[in-house]
Amino acid sequence: MTARLTVLAGPTAVGKGTVAAFIRAHHPQVWLSVSATTRPARPQEVEGVHYHFVSDERFTEMVEQGDLLEWAVVHGRAKYGTPRRPVEEAVAAGRLPLLEIDLQGARQVRETMPTARFVFLAPPSFDDLVSRLTGRGTETAEEQATRLATAQGEMAAQSEFDHIIVNDDVERAAAELVSLMQSA
Ligand code: 5GP
Repeated sequence: MTARLTVLAGPTAVGKGTVAAFIRAHHPQVWLSVSATTRPARPQEVEGVHYHFVSDERFTEMVEQGDLLEWAVVHGRAKYGTPRRPVEEAVAAGRLPLLEIDLQGARQVRETMPTARFVFLAPPSFDDLVSRLTGRGTETAEEQATRLATAQGEMAAQSEFDHIIVNDDVERAAAELVSLMQSA
């Protein structure tokens, strides 16, 4: 039996990566896609587990060969994309396939795989998102204003999604997502 692909997206700083990491560690029945990225690995990250770390040339080759289901430049810094074949295999094998990607990527998947399930991870409130975005206090007022404008635009995208999960608690939000994936 084939499975239905689930796409998790949401605004910058809402904690998608943390929810995905929790699912990777605690919900082994979920198959989490491993993206390709041109950004360098962070100290704790493992090739093939967290990402496939590739050069810009290799990424371009993957795009040209049609190997990516979707891809985007995120935060104007690095390219990120979902390798197509492993997703198709997980779907065919009836696994519970999950993509944790940005909004631009989610929109592309909606075009190519409209039957996928689209889940928006939302902050408990806009103020909560603002404090996550500005919390580090290292940005200038101008940078903070840009990030807030971006966050506002991203929050407006939630109407494009099938489900909204509030990230009030990582463990609870992860459990809600997994139970949604296990429903039809
Ligand atoms: P980070 O560099 O912190 O791991 O991830 C930065 C952002 O890239 C996150 O918002 C994450 O959702 C997004 N991202 C990770 N993998 C992919 C991907 O394969 N495609 C797209 N479009 N975005 C991705």
